[in-house]
Amino acid sequence: MDTSILLIYTGGTIGMKIDPQTQALAPFDFSHIMEEVPELKKFGYKLDSYSFDPVIDSSDADIPFWQELVRIIEINYNKYDGFVVLHGTDTMSYTASALSFMLENLGKPVIFTGSQLPIGMLRTDGKENLISSIEIAAAKDDEERALVPEVCIYFESQLYRGNRTTKYNAENFRAFRSANYPVLADVGIHIRFNPDLIRYPKWGKDFKVHYDMDPNVAIVKIVPGMSVNNISILNKVEGLRAVILETFGSGNAPTNGKFIDAVRQLVDNGIIVVNVSQCHAGRVDMDAYATGVALKKIGVVSGEDSTIEAALAKLYFLLGKYPDNNDVRVNMSKNIRGEISK
Ligand code: ASP
Repeated sequence: MDTSILLIYTGGTIGMKIDPQTQALAPFDFSHIMEEVPELKKFGYKLDSYSFDPVIDSSDADIPFWQELVRIIEINYNKYDGFVVLHGTDTMSYTASALSFMLENLGKPVIFTGSQLPIGMLRTDGKENLISSIEIAAAKDDEERALVPEVCIYFESQLYRGNRTTKYNAENFRAFRSANYPVLADVGIHIRFNPDLIRYPKWGKDFKVHYDMDPNVAIVKIVPGMSVNNISILNKVEGLRAVILETFGSGNAPTNGKFIDAVRQLVDNGIIVVNVSQCHAGRVDMDAYATGVALKKIGVVSGEDSTIEAALAKLYFLLGKYPDNNDVRVNMSKNIRGEISK
């Protein structure tokens, strides 16, 4: 049977070209992708495309947008061998993280990609990103199973686990980084997959989708000299169920009584407080310094080596799944989709 891939265009720079009349960048009609990238005809795969209408700048990505993306994958799941999602780079790591939780026991590749320069420009990085993403989405092993049945980001010759990534460069073609997990594949003359690092589903167990996401989460970045009011005011936010503290280094925060009391008050009010480091590489270790021990003692949950994007998406997902915050707290420490090293 022919390999079949569904391209899903959501918006972003990759799908733009210069309008000859206005000289401004504007999205092109995605049904004309074969004319924009004639190289795609050489694949010999069945390539179908679906475009969001309207397309969005990824700054407008939100939960209904993720749900729509999940719905498109769900209804097309049995028809295609893999999915390539074209998405703006700005929030691609958030969307990839969210989908990694929303798609359970995924047996097919969902490869996000985009570009820094529009596909209609001479020096675009979009063509290589798109072509290699399609090849990766189509790659199978000897038993005809997907080589990378994960939600990934492919960008500038590297394939990353989506929920390990962060956009860290607004200009360079290498826009993403996965500081705490190695790449799943390196692309040069050959595509070198690293099978030992790839997560596989329980083959034979059904693919399952989750739509419920609860966004009652706040993120507070700890900075020197901050007022504790920035923490205590959160007790007054109606419906708030979780707070991510972006801490220093290996999970440290001020030790003064006022600060600790304010965090303790949140925990005592049943709010889940998660400790994620401001550092991109390394992990939270609340036993390393007295400053971390104090947080652990009052019931703050370790975010381990999670990115902020993955911690946020995981909380939305767990809060959507469990009405009881205790269940969320317990599951927050578990490795669910390879988002933390544990
Ligand atoms: N602002 C754009 C977006 O994220 C940038 C890009 O496409 O890379 O949608």
